[in-house]
Amino acid sequence: PAVPAPDDFLAVDAALTAEETAIRDTVRDFAARELLPGVADWFDAGTIPDPRALAKAFGELGLFGMHLSGYGCAGASATAYGVACRELEAVDSGLRSFVSVQGSLAMAAIHKYGSEEQKTSWLPRMAAGEVIGCFGLTEPDSGSDPGSMRTRARRDGSDWILDGTKMWITNGSVADVAVVWAATDDGIRGFLVPTDAPGFTANTVHRKLSLRASITSELVLDGVRLPGTALLPGATGLGAPLSCLNEARFGIVWGVVGAARTCYLAALDYAGTRVQFGRPIAGFQLTQRKLADMVVDVNQAGLTAARLGRLKDAGQCHHTQVSFGKFANVAAAQRVAAAARSIHGANGITLEYPVLRHLLNLETVATYEGTEEVHALSIGQAVTGLSAFR
Ligand code: FAD
Repeated sequence: PAVPAPDDFLAVDAALTAEETAIRDTVRDFAARELLPGVADWFDAGTIPDPRALAKAFGELGLFGMHLSGYGCAGASATAYGVACRELEAVDSGLRSFVSVQGSLAMAAIHKYGSEEQKTSWLPRMAAGEVIGCFGLTEPDSGSDPGSMRTRARRDGSDWILDGTKMWITNGSVADVAVVWAATDDGIRGFLVPTDAPGFTANTVHRKLSLRASITSELVLDGVRLPGTALLPGATGLGAPLSCLNEARFGIVWGVVGAARTCYLAALDYAGTRVQFGRPIAGFQLTQRKLADMVVDVNQAGLTAARLGRLKDAGQCHHTQVSFGKFANVAAAQRVAAAARSIHGANGITLEYPVLRHLLNLETVATYEGTEEVHALSIGQAVTGLSAFR
């Protein structure tokens, strides 16, 4: 056999179907052509310049709700969706987050828990990228413990009145519809809130040092009146938003493999050309140790993602296995990005190279969709039978 390829050392992609390979190549080409040239400037500016155009482009590629079926969604395999996330996050975690929030959080909530009317009215437009959605679960005082949320929804005749504040909501300021989770007398329920509803405001969070090529917002709901049809009828209790998070985490398991791969390949390239003490730094044993650790991390993470993809395609993926993947792969990507940054020396702290941008993004990726600690506790509970959450 030939020497393995540096970026796919265990030949994981050889197990992709022809359709999955075609999706990989399409997304990779699009990302290289349309996203990579601008991403450092977007990160520098702390925004995505034209989120509507980006949504349209992602919609045309079939990325939104890619593995959902019907209602204008592509109906691809979970593995295909994962591969697409990997190729997007190879450019930037913020761009993969755009797709995760739209498809795996907002659309998945409607697809799983919406009425037939809600599905037909929202999903095709969201799949096409004509309508942008966001997902409001976190609050200023309620993060890892979403059951402590203070946002309330109360009945007024057949209407609902929503009051509360959501925080750290991706795409909140550019969304047309917000999936908002609120406590009611019957437990936690989900609502589809048009963002032009009176009493709804979204304020963009500034001065972030991570996920800068992504819009993050505070949502304020001040007596927002909604018709009874705004309630997601199938979503009762905290399990509903948590099951959506599980969908998005699956994309993260794959996505961070892309971020790690980019950092590793950048380091490999840099180490091969940067000469100190009369030879390329790639020739020093300490650098080779870093590169060996990186290639192991990138490819083991890739294998984990591929295995979870096949389990999910078979309908056999337990949420604690997704926790395993998020926990293991985000940490692996953080190690790789940190090592890649060190190999780049001073150049590594600039936006001329992708490494610190990815490392900073991964701080968010390790935090959202369940922190590293929360997933450690989830795995700990799965293997011991004992909950250490509270
Ligand atoms: P906390 O829950 O306050 O945690 C603080 C620390 O305490 C962490 O280290 C945590 O692990 C630890 N901790 C908490 N509980 C325990 C425990 N039982 N045992 C041990 N340690 C514990 N949310 C949304 O709803 N929608 C979005 O679109 C969205 N997008 C985001 C985008 C960005 C850029 C960021 C940064 C966040 C986003 N979030 C979003 C919010 C994210 O999901 C929360 O930040 C996350 O759930 C953690 O909550 P927290 O920040 O309140 O931290």
